[in-house]
Amino acid sequence: MDNSKKNNVPMSSPEINEEDRQAVMEVLNTTHLSMGPKIDQFEQAVKELTGSRHALAVSSGTTGLHLCIRAAGIEQGDLVITTPFSFISSTNVILFEKAIPVFVDVDPLTGNIAADQLKQAIRDLNRGGKDASRWLPRNLPGKAGRLKAVLSVDVFGQPADYDSLSPVCEEHGLTIIEDSCEALCATYKSKLAGKFGKYGVFAFYPNKQITTGEGGIIITDDDEDAAFMQALRNQGRAPGDAWLQHTYLGYNYRLDEMSAALGLSQIKRLDHMLDSRAQVADWYNRYLQEFPMIETPHVLPSTTRMSWFVYVIRLDKAVDRDEFARRLIANDVPVRPYFLPIHLQPYIAEQFGYRKGDYPVTEALGEHGLALPFSSVMSEAQVEQVCEGIRKSL
Ligand SMILES: *Cc1c(COP(=O)(O)O)cnc(C)c1O
Repeated sequence: MDNSKKNNVPMSSPEINEEDRQAVMEVLNTTHLSMGPKIDQFEQAVKELTGSRHALAVSSGTTGLHLCIRAAGIEQGDLVITTPFSFISSTNVILFEKAIPVFVDVDPLTGNIAADQLKQAIRDLNRGGKDASRWLPRNLPGKAGRLKAVLSVDVFGQPADYDSLSPVCEEHGLTIIEDSCEALCATYKSKLAGKFGKYGVFAFYPNKQITTGEGGIIITDDDEDAAFMQALRNQGRAPGDAWLQHTYLGYNYRLDEMSAALGLSQIKRLDHMLDSRAQVADWYNRYLQEFPMIETPHVLPSTTRMSWFVYVIRLDKAVDRDEFARRLIANDVPVRPYFLPIHLQPYIAEQFGYRKGDYPVTEALGEHGLALPFSSVMSEAQVEQVCEGIRKSL
């Protein structure tokens, strides 16, 4: 038997221990499987972790972002600036409300929103006319409304450049929604990701830094919006509403007790798991130095703590990324392109008339990037195994 095939390195892996299992079992031995004490405790733990006035556990990062869009008062036709280099849901939540995502290209080093372009976009959109239209999609579904918000993504666990973004947003009265779904506990100039917007959202899908299975959480310091979002996640029941009374059009975006118990158990080991992830990234950084065709991730000095979410390398333009990926997979190294540009996803390109070439930095990152296997439980031997696969495949 071929020994090398026995221990395939997984693309990602949650870190679940006996304590986690017991925490979930404990809930299953009660009659409270939803809307019980674990949600409160999990929210309390996130409040303490982030120093936020409110934390609202929800069924996913996506549903959390959607509630922020609703709380920000974004309606049909409103403009929301965001980036096409992200996971799809940061744009989808804008579309859920029939608002219009206005894409701004990203910084080539980090994949985060390019601050200079954002400033220009805000100025031009507020000026209107020709200046504005160069930022808008070719096909506008109806009349463009007002620019209301910026949905900024902290890509791969690195916060965006908030010292540049925040003042210009404030100057123009734009709400910042911070998608920190990949950046739990990252810091920008020593301040926590998720705290730069009016709302911040973290996500707990199994490949994230900590997991609840499915799940997410919103943080905010705004009392009124927190109460509104709390109502929306719970079928639109406002505080004081009886069980079958619904003040608003709401959703069932609640997290269940088993998930909250798992999150609560995981969050106790958060620092440890983040350190493990940083260690794996360090190994990769070191072992990959021998490959001149591979560029390792860039962490800016302003990122005082990187919260490693994925490990994405960039290949030299001379390397055929897709062919390389196929060979790696044949060599038992799972890899994935990261991200496929949002403006080129079929339903978005079709609705808004986007074409290849519209966001060149996003497209270049999408074409040459490759996520390697990564998790907090990866060993140095597994990192070496991946690098051996790379050696064979290049
Ligand atoms: C993970 C993630 C989300 C949320 O994903 P869910 O699967 O809905 O929890 C949102 N935005 C980004 C950038 C993400 O990486």
